Formats: sequence, C-alpha cells, structure tokens
Amino acid sequence: MGSQEIGVVGAGPVGLRCATRLAEKGFSVKVFEDHGEVGTPVNCSGLISKSNTDSLGIPVKECTVNEIRGARIFAPNTTMLEVERKEPVAYVVDRAQYDKVHLKQAQDAGVQIQYHSRVIDARGGTLFVKVGERGEMEKSKVIVGADGVQSKVRKIMGFEPGSESFVHSIQMTAKGKFDPHFVEVHLGPFAPGYFAWVIPESKSVARMGLGFKVGTNPNEAFKKFIESRGFEVETCFHCSALIPCTPPMKNVVKENMALVGDAAMQAKATTGGGLILGAMAADILSESIIGHLKNGTALTQYEKNLKDLNKEFNLHWKIRQYFNALNEDQVNRLFIKAKKAGVEEFLSKEGDMDMPSKFIGKALARPRLFLLAPQLLRMALA
Ligand SMILES: Cc1cc2nc3c(=O)[nH]c(=O)nc-3n(C[C@H](O)[C@H](O)[C@H](O)COP(=O)(O)OP(=O)(O)OC[C@H]3O[C@@H](n4cnc5c(N)ncnc54)[C@H](O)[C@@H]3O)c2cc1C
Repeated sequence: MGSQEIGVVGAGPVGLRCATRLAEKGFSVKVFEDHGEVGTPVNCSGLISKSNTDSLGIPVKECTVNEIRGARIFAPNTTMLEVERKEPVAYVVDRAQYDKVHLKQAQDAGVQIQYHSRVIDARGGTLFVKVGERGEMEKSKVIVGADGVQSKVRKIMGFEPGSESFVHSIQMTAKGKFDPHFVEVHLGPFAPGYFAWVIPESKSVARMGLGFKVGTNPNEAFKKFIESRGFEVETCFHCSALIPCTPPMKNVVKENMALVGDAAMQAKATTGGGLILGAMAADILSESIIGHLKNGTALTQYEKNLKDLNKEFNLHWKIRQYFNALNEDQVNRLFIKAKKAGVEEFLSKEGDMDMPSKFIGKALARPRLFLLAPQLLRMALA
C-alpha cells in the first residue's frame, strides 16, 4: 500500500496548483489521474483574465494563442453592448498546454503524478484506485477532490447536486471571419438559461460554443445559433461537457476530504469560467491543509477561509438568477436601458471578469447609472 501526506484526485489545473503549493512547503503529495496524460481531452474555451492570471503568477506566455481587448454582448434582438479597453484584458490559452504549465510546476515542486489511476472509493484515509485492470490502496492524511465537474470524491462525500445545478455545453473550433480582439456573447432562444460565445484564436479561427439547460439537444441548439446570427463557418473539432451553475456549496469538507475547483462547483455562474477562481480556491485550500497538518486546525477551516471568494461566486449566481428570470423582451429592453445609462463606458473602465464586487458597488455611485438602480441594487444586495 502506497502512502503520502496528501492524495489529490485529478490532475487538472486546480488539483495541480493545490498539489504544487503543498509540495513547495515540504509535504509529500501524490496526484492520481484517470487519463494517461495531463491536458486532454480539452473541454474548455481557455479565456482567462489577464490581471488575475498575472497576479496569481501563472506563466502563460508559452500557451497564449491570442489576447483580447473587449467583449460584444448581444441581446436576443441583437442590440449590442460593447466593452473595450486599449490594452489586452484577457488571454486565450491553449488549454492542453495551460494544464501542462501546471504539470511542470508540480513536477518541479516534487509532486508525484500517477497516471491511468481512477479513484473509485475513499474511506478512513484510504483511497481505492483502479490502475489499469488492477486495484490499489493508498493511504493519505488528507484527500483533495479535484476531479472535475462530475467528481467521484464529491459523490463519495455525499454532496451530490441535482441535474438543475449544471448547464450542458457544446463547443466547436470554427473557421470563418472573426474580429481577433473581441469575444462575443449572444443571448437568445438557442441557449435557454445561458448564452452562446465566440472566442477568437485569430482572424480566421474561433472557439464557438453554447450552454443550455440539461435536456436540450446540443447539435440542434448550435445549428439554431449559427443560423440565427448569420455566421458562415466551417466547424471542425467539437466537444461537449457539463458546467457547474449554482450558488457556492455550503459544505466542501467531510472528515479528511476536501473539494476544490469544478468538483466543488467553483465556477462563475455568469460565464462558466472556473480556471481563475479555481486557482484562488486551490491556494486557499492548500493554506487550510497546511494549518491542519502543522497546527491541528480543523480542515473545516477551509470552508471559513473561502468566505470572501464565495461572496464573488454568490454575486455571479445572483446575476445569473437575475438574467434567467427575465423573458426575451425584458432582456432586450434592459440592454437598451443599459446603453442609454452609459454601461458600456462604465464597464470599459471598471469592469472585472472575475470579481463583480469590484464594480457593482461603484456602479451604484454613478449618477448616470441611476437608470439601472433597481437592477443593480438587486445584484448588490446579494
Ligand atoms: C465548454 C467549456 C468551456 C469553458 N471555458 C472556460 C473558459 O473560457 N475559461 C475558464 O476559466 N473556464 C472555462 N471552463 C471551465 C473550466 O474548464 C473548468 O472550470 C476547469 O477545467 C476546472 O478545473 P479542475 O482542475 O477543477 O477540473 P478539470 O480540469 O475537469 O480536471 C479534473 C481532472 O480530474 C480527473 N479525474 C476525474 N475523475 C477522476 C477520478 N475518479 N480519479 C482520478 N482522476 C479523475 C480528470 O481526468 C481531469 O484530469 C469551460 C468549461 C467548459 C465545459
């Protein structure tokens, strides 16, 4: 039987970051990964905010394929809000390479990675791992469930959210004509309860996708989107996956097990993005585990330490709920009102992809935005 201080389930970017932080502090860490390599299959558009990626110290130079300066957001009737900065605000990364950047950091810190190893159960500090056709047992003082949106560890802990807590997504790599500096967000009947997106890699290639309530036919929804918005594209690679869409989970710790990243439903309910806030949660979890193993602090301290980050997740959730409660006509009218109130100018200056708390309060202090006061208040009071 193998043994280490911390066993991490899942070699995604969040699990690898948490493992790296712990190994850097001298703990023995082993990561169990179901697949034979890190980074594949890719189920992601790879859009991450520049400011937070840089402040988290994630070295993305080698895996960046494009830089983005703004966003065009289309209402169902195609009224557009445009948010633009002079400097790049986001990176579009090669997601497989992005994960490999995290792998290198983990290996440099001394993390052990075991591939083709699917965790099938966990009890009393023992992980039951299926390695190829064999079964193995591994002892760990702490078990980190970083095994993604359909987390087995979450299930073992008994924290299983219902199907309404996810959106289904489909994504294509498409060839056509795109503005390489802007991402596009499209609201409409093709993406009930969510949205469609266009994230350019270049002038001629983009990642196009859409999310919708579980139960919608993905290919039909995508076809509807392309046709209704007049895109002339040729699609090649495509993938389909679930995205968490919930308020933050109250419980992410049980006994010696803790969840992080998509396994803990730590994705922004507005956009589905989970890379940046997931990395922040990984840092919080690693600090909490260090406190637990060094000073005997309860592992549930992690839930308390997530308080500030959860405020952001909660705000994303409130914004999502607010939009989902509007019908198409109300969204169209809201866009027109927002345009008149100067939202484009405001967001171009103050907007933040990850932390809505940074701009919602400021919006309330802007006399021009008083037109939107009822809507902003509802979000701010969240
Ligand atoms: C279509 C789509 C587009 C997206 N676009 C963006 C975007 O533009 N920007 C952004 O920030 N986020 C985006 N996301 C979300 C982002 O991909 C996730 O938030 C992110 O991958 C979460 O990282 P993670 O490490 O928690 O989980 P994952 O990346 O899912 O990694 C989990 C790992 O665990 C392994 N695993 C699973 N079960 C087991 C097991 N039982 N035993 C061992 N290993 C196991 C898996 O093989 C995997 O390697 C997108 C998601 C989708 C679906």
